[in-house]
Amino acid sequence: MLLEIEDLVVEYGRIQALHGISLSVEAGEIVCLIGANGAGKTTTMKAISGLLPAVRGRIRFDGEDITTLRADRRVVKGISQAPEGRGIFPGMTVMENLSMGAYTRSKKGTERQADLTRVLELFPRLAERRTQIAGTMSGGEQQMLTIGRALMAHPRVLLLDEPSMGLAPKLIQQIFSIIREINSQGTTVLVVEQNAQQALSIADRAYILETGAVVKEGPGRELLGDPAVKAAYLGVA
Ligand code: ATP
Repeated sequence: MLLEIEDLVVEYGRIQALHGISLSVEAGEIVCLIGANGAGKTTTMKAISGLLPAVRGRIRFDGEDITTLRADRRVVKGISQAPEGRGIFPGMTVMENLSMGAYTRSKKGTERQADLTRVLELFPRLAERRTQIAGTMSGGEQQMLTIGRALMAHPRVLLLDEPSMGLAPKLIQQIFSIIREINSQGTTVLVVEQNAQQALSIADRAYILETGAVVKEGPGRELLGDPAVKAAYLGVA
């Protein structure tokens, strides 16, 4: 397993947001987390990237216990998160934002250049807008920049928190096909999504979270056909 989470508990003060969840991601997979508002999806992602401490439980990456490792060290190990809600630097240009994403990389120009070429090929719009101030871009473009910046860290696992949030249907399709492309190029993906239909269609496996606990897991396609999942998350009676 590339990423293994075991019995993870996370608290915000006296509020326990995760009640001991376990999940795993194998190298090469796309794994998706779905669940209602407040289920604990973002909390899980932040705990994996090291932005929130684990009160209990273990997080292992490539066999190594990283439970207490600092967030920036986790990026160096290969865990990179594209945060929910477009965490770009709005006053900087597109290129400056992308460079910030590579801050943990070695100084080797050729490797950074290869990552940049990959990102600009995946997102031609970013290539067109290199010098644009990021905060003036459309919501969809900012979302692409968020993902592109996370890719500049050359992650082994890319954490995507609600990549389709607030996007028009056509753009949602595009983002999901880009996620598949990123994965087919060799990057493992863990994605949180409200858009369960789309996410389950591209996921090798998925976990369903309810109030801080995993209540169901299985192959994406299987969960797509599961009557209880359909009723709760796919808007099908
Ligand atoms: P959404 O789909 O709405 O983004 P989510 O599944 O990502 O939801 P989380 O953001 O992980 O859910 O929140 C899980 C629980 O933790 C919720 O009950 C939420 O109110 C609580 N929570 C989140 N952040 C904080 C915080 N900073 N302080 C206190 N409670 C918090």
